[in-house]
Amino acid sequence: MSGPSDDTSASSLEYKRVLLKLSGEALLGASREFGIDETVLQNYVEEVRTAVECGAEVAIVIGGGNIFRGVEHAMEGMTRAHADYMGMLATMINGMALQDALEQVDLVTRLQSSIKMEEIAEPFIRRRAIRHLEKGRVVIFGAGTGNPYFTTDTAAALRGLEIGADVILKGTRVDGIFTADPEEDDSAERFERIHGDEVLRRDLRVMDMTALTLCQESEMPIIVFNMAASGNLRRLLEGETVGTHVHWDEAESPVERVPA
Ligand code: UDP
Repeated sequence: MSGPSDDTSASSLEYKRVLLKLSGEALLGASREFGIDETVLQNYVEEVRTAVECGAEVAIVIGGGNIFRGVEHAMEGMTRAHADYMGMLATMINGMALQDALEQVDLVTRLQSSIKMEEIAEPFIRRRAIRHLEKGRVVIFGAGTGNPYFTTDTAAALRGLEIGADVILKGTRVDGIFTADPEEDDSAERFERIHGDEVLRRDLRVMDMTALTLCQESEMPIIVFNMAASGNLRRLLEGETVGTHVHWDEAESPVERVPA
């Protein structure tokens, strides 16, 4: 079974314990309208495998937007809280798919759910999750925060803080945070580092407001990066500049762009 490598590689890591937020919506891949694209899933697995092999402790929060997004159905007339519980169940489907795919490459995993479903997942127990991580197991947190009216970004911020993660890593389909949506605007520029207050001031929609506020209060750094680019996760853990780093350091200039 794969596990963390020797102490030498682990101690050279910039970030040892990370909370990786994976998008449910990205699991659609290029052409699906619902469900799980096998290529995207395998890409997630490869990235996580290399991260574990270089000694990182990896906890994952996975979204559910590829299957069910509560707020959209609420707009169509469904009771919001009810729809959100369905959304949380969708994250469990993704969590189970990811767990199986990770175990197929010999990683040891535990799936913890914020809503009790003991036949398929452990209940979320903070200290237990930490113990799993210390033993080199990949911990997947499913069912969001367990509460309606929240998102999996908020679940990522919350669980990241609870397990004492060094950083929240938000894996996306784009290379980081841009001045405008890079999928729609060619002139959009990427920020290399940006102060969290500036993200909030510019309403850059890195994560929703609840998630960002949680990170702000505890000065939890966030890195937004392209999860589809092979090796990005490992490079980032080793301290290379990948994606956009959201920091809370008052001494630093609020914005730094990638030079043209
Ligand atoms: N959800 C919720 N509470 C949470 C997390 C998620 O109610 O703490 C629901 C909500 O309906 C959300 C859905 O689960 O739309 C799927 O999560 P999300 O939209 O964050 O997934 P992603 O954007 O990553 O695909």
